[in-house]
Amino acid sequence: MTIAQILDGTALAKKFKDALREQVRHLRQDGAVPRLVNIVVGNDPGACAYATAQKKVAEYIGIQYDLEILAGHTSQQELIETIQRLNSEISIHGIMIHKPIAPHIDYRVVANHVVPVKDLEGINVTNIGKMMLADTRITPCTPAAVMELILSTGVNLRGKEAVVIGQSEIVGKPLSLLLLAQDATVTVCHLATSQAGQLVGHIERADILVVAVGKPALVKGEWVKKGAVVIDVGINKVGTEIVGDVEFEKALQRASFLTPVPGGVGPVTVVMLMRNAIEAFKIQKEPRK
Ligand code: NAD
Repeated sequence: MTIAQILDGTALAKKFKDALREQVRHLRQDGAVPRLVNIVVGNDPGACAYATAQKKVAEYIGIQYDLEILAGHTSQQELIETIQRLNSEISIHGIMIHKPIAPHIDYRVVANHVVPVKDLEGINVTNIGKMMLADTRITPCTPAAVMELILSTGVNLRGKEAVVIGQSEIVGKPLSLLLLAQDATVTVCHLATSQAGQLVGHIERADILVVAVGKPALVKGEWVKKGAVVIDVGINKVGTEIVGDVEFEKALQRASFLTPVPGGVGPVTVVMLMRNAIEAFKIQKEPRK
């Protein structure tokens, strides 16, 4: 009976953190400090806890991490003006906007006001467009984390059947482009795939399976192909426990590699944000083409 190797995201994140810290140490020798700003609208305790965790990682690496907290009633126009001010400040190299955001603000509209070179989350139209052309210097953080976890197994993606479940703009869709850039054969499944009764068939032939839905036990362990690499992006609260979208114990019997939840994709995602911050800093220091 196969028992999968657990893909330890915390350990992989530590490796990246140390490598990035070393890069920043060199950058700082010239007196330059990469700096990012996280804009939070409203006083959401969840946002503050998340920001504290990010700040800790940033400080370990040597990146200055600032919070710009705006009142909950800040209008979309006022938020855009804040973004424009931060866009023009040369000491700031990266900008992110905390989600979820108040319903009176259209996240997609405001995110597109961040200049592409400071778009830390890699989600504005220019950076998404660049990804389409396989320019992945700044890529969305969760898909980037998934790719690093897959690549850490040593698997060659060329010609492999990669099945992504979930087609959101922040995970599934950009991830499909990153997998395609590695010459995998990519299938993206979503709610309609399930409703059409097709989900299991796709899962059963996946050499690489990435699940990003937000439904506990959506993927039954017995559906997983023997030897598959399984990345569980889902985060679900069940009672007092946090679980993913895949039946962990059962999938462990069939997969070759499997990420735990928590401790899989999450820790690597935070580090990818920092990698983007350093990349953004470098791009801004390069001579303009
Ligand atoms: P989303 O709600 O934007 O998208 C969910 C997707 O799942 C949609 O494409 C939908 O069609 C699909 N879906 C819904 N029900 C389905 C079903 N029964 N069968 C197949 N597909 C179905 O979600 P999201 O923002 O992409 O997040 C997905 C999950 O990943 C959530 O649990 C979220 O918390 C988690 N997440 C984790 C990280 C991380 O860093 N670990 C980052 C982002 C999101």
